[in-house]
Amino acid sequence: MYQDIFSSAIAAVREEGRYREFADLKRITGRFPRATWYGPNGLKEVTVWCSNDYLGMGQHKDVLGAMHTALDETGAGAGGTRNIAGTNHYHVELEKELADLHGKEAGLLFNSGYMSNQATLSTLALLLPDCVVFSDALNHSSMIEGIKAGRSDKVIWQHNDIVDLEEKLKKVDINRPKIIAFESVYSMDGDIAPIAEICALARKYNAMTYLDEVHAVGMYGPRGGGITDRDGVADQVDIIEGTLAKAFGVMGGYITASAEIVDCIRSYASGFIFSTSLAPVLAAGALASVRHLKASGEERRLQQLHAKLLKEKLAERGLPVVHSVSHIVPVMVCDPVICKSLTDELMEKYDIYVQPINYPTVPRGAERLRLTPTPMHGPDEIDRITSALDELWTAFGLKRDKAA
Ligand SMILES: *Cc1c(COP(=O)(O)O)cnc(C)c1O
Repeated sequence: MYQDIFSSAIAAVREEGRYREFADLKRITGRFPRATWYGPNGLKEVTVWCSNDYLGMGQHKDVLGAMHTALDETGAGAGGTRNIAGTNHYHVELEKELADLHGKEAGLLFNSGYMSNQATLSTLALLLPDCVVFSDALNHSSMIEGIKAGRSDKVIWQHNDIVDLEEKLKKVDINRPKIIAFESVYSMDGDIAPIAEICALARKYNAMTYLDEVHAVGMYGPRGGGITDRDGVADQVDIIEGTLAKAFGVMGGYITASAEIVDCIRSYASGFIFSTSLAPVLAAGALASVRHLKASGEERRLQQLHAKLLKEKLAERGLPVVHSVSHIVPVMVCDPVICKSLTDELMEKYDIYVQPINYPTVPRGAERLRLTPTPMHGPDEIDRITSALDELWTAFGLKRDKAA
């Protein structure tokens, strides 16, 4: 019986053309963005075009150096939860650095960005009596799960729509505790939230703000503090959440906020309390990465330049690129089966790895390629992928934008 249930669940996924196959890769240190692909016909070298290691910091010499040093100094694992023997000095230093990055009093580390959202939002909703969470319609799964676990009332407002948000805020008693939960850069369309306007509504309607800056930390602002850093609005947001695993290139998640809020999450959130803390090696690597990107804007400048160039080149050929206002470059395919075949061809014929993005990551019918140029994807790489996609668009008979 069990076997049948599981195999028919998988058959349903296959039928839709969205059965997930993981590319078996080994990234090659010093040769970013190249990796060895362990494919069905043996090994070959490919160029990765869909990594969230947006700035190549996962191979930066300062980051690797710090990790080697920490490994030799303090060993492999943390040895416990934060409360019981697992607070390593690297955690403490990193939390201070992150608090400073966002101009907040305190920071708190989690084992992933997912966990930081899940644990913090659920704990807030449980702590605030009779709370209502106002959640953007396109919030990440980790925020949705946190809100669900908090068991408070929840109101979903239309994506990035402050008129809709205000209408919904108006309907709730001004004295009830409220949390507005949203992201800065949305990772699939690459659009950006109107943070200052949302914070103004929060003040008007007596709400707290919770902002996921996962796709923006390291990437925007003079110190890499995200869109709030770029726009000078970090002080208006109550809680800024981020990851150490995307632009910072390592692993782990965090929140920064007032000392009282951080003290509460540290004391009440089970996803924080009952899990062994991040390996000190990871904290040391993340610390080096955050410090480097605070001081250096060169990686951000080159990344933005390459994103702009890639969008221009794709548009010249009439390929349906989304002209996002961020560093993310989506190319729409709008069919799960074609999306998968296209990326198979890219890998097999052109040595280019792009993972097809299908439901449930994006809605059905909005299947796409999600390209993530980095400082190391220069003009030659951009030309190579543009030509490859141009040829494949013809081979598959796909639609082009008219302007071209
Ligand atoms: C990736 C992601 C997370 C989770 O971060 P991890 O560190 O990878 O667990 C949270 N929020 C958003 C919007 C994300 O895209």
